[in-house]
Amino acid sequence: MSNVYERLGVPTIINAKGPATRVSGAPMPAEIAAAMQEATQHCVDMAELQGRASEIIAEATGAEAGMVTAGASAGLLLGTAACLAGLDPARMNRLPDTTGMRDEVVVVRSQRNFYDHAVRAAGARLVEVGLPDRFSGAGVRDAEAWEIEDAIGERTACVFYVAQPSSRPSLSAVAEVAHDKGVPVLVDAASQLPPVGNLERFFGQGADLVSFSGGKAILGPQGSGILCGRRELVASALLQNLDQDIFFEQWRPPRALFAGLNLRGLPQHGIGRSCKVGKEQVVALLTALRLFVDEDIGARNRRCLSRLEAIAEHLAPEIACGVRIEESADGEEPLLVLDVSSRPGGPSAFDLVIALQDGSPAVHVDPSFVDEGRVVVRALCLKDDQAPVIARRVNEVLAPVRVPA
Ligand SMILES: *Cc1c(COP(=O)(O)O)cnc(C)c1O
Repeated sequence: MSNVYERLGVPTIINAKGPATRVSGAPMPAEIAAAMQEATQHCVDMAELQGRASEIIAEATGAEAGMVTAGASAGLLLGTAACLAGLDPARMNRLPDTTGMRDEVVVVRSQRNFYDHAVRAAGARLVEVGLPDRFSGAGVRDAEAWEIEDAIGERTACVFYVAQPSSRPSLSAVAEVAHDKGVPVLVDAASQLPPVGNLERFFGQGADLVSFSGGKAILGPQGSGILCGRRELVASALLQNLDQDIFFEQWRPPRALFAGLNLRGLPQHGIGRSCKVGKEQVVALLTALRLFVDEDIGARNRRCLSRLEAIAEHLAPEIACGVRIEESADGEEPLLVLDVSSRPGGPSAFDLVIALQDGSPAVHVDPSFVDEGRVVVRALCLKDDQAPVIARRVNEVLAPVRVPA
């Protein structure tokens, strides 16, 4: 048997959806996997390793400090915990009980999503702002900066901002009103890479803490991420994440994060201890980050494009006419779009998604646009030899029913 999954009796899938968690992220580039394997063979002081990670992440992002997390979602929990507790070990010990702390997190209603569970898990209460008329079809407006300003009060721990190209109001406008009231801004930028420039961009717009996914387009371990930003906040997040089974006298805080910071004591295991990060994750993420910063994304996109073209070439002629490859001018990944809306009586886009997923081998595609009759194929997580297999499966599912003579 050829691979570890087959030996476990778990079928491998064809991932034409992209580096999503449910479909196990992306295959890891060999250089990152080699660094990860090497990291397993030695032991280090985890605080020291995260201290060095902070310097490397700071260099790549322009932030004061950073740490490797167990994913962007873990980063949101840790970042919220940092905003709630600051550097007070007693508060750290109390979370998620927020007695005596500012515990409200202000968020634009249209930015609410499944991942903000991590913010609530730290102990915070979300305070929603704005009416997203532009999404309800009733109008053009969304929350405005003055409404966020109005929602910030005595109990506000931070403003939580989900960075997407469509997010309103702008991060700069939100940060301005938050900072006027002395409140930090925590940004979920999990899937905002590439472009590589976004590593720095949100800090230029006023973010105090930014959480990135390491298991998406950076191609690091599936369960890894980056939390970076103001040094005191990252130091607090790290303190609530590291294993703290150590006497205060023994403890050697990494200088990159803790120089000049006075702690009145060492907290016990914090709320983020459940978001444990292994040395392998740290080393592999740092390797992935270095490669990502140096990578020519145009070349990556051209590799994706040639896989999508290979799929299109293998499609049956009557299907190929409903197919187009979308290339974006601004460096985003190319997409193969299968439009089945003009095939009345045939399987719907949703039928196609399900049939591909339930077939053998299972092919997972992007179902985001099935309501409009379109199925989207993404190539970042594909291997070159999978293109003809995807085309064969699509041909089989969409083949016209032949009535026997
Ligand atoms: C993927 C994603 C997350 C979670 O990232 P993980 O690294 O999987 O924890 C959080 N927020 C948004 C907006 C995401 O797209």
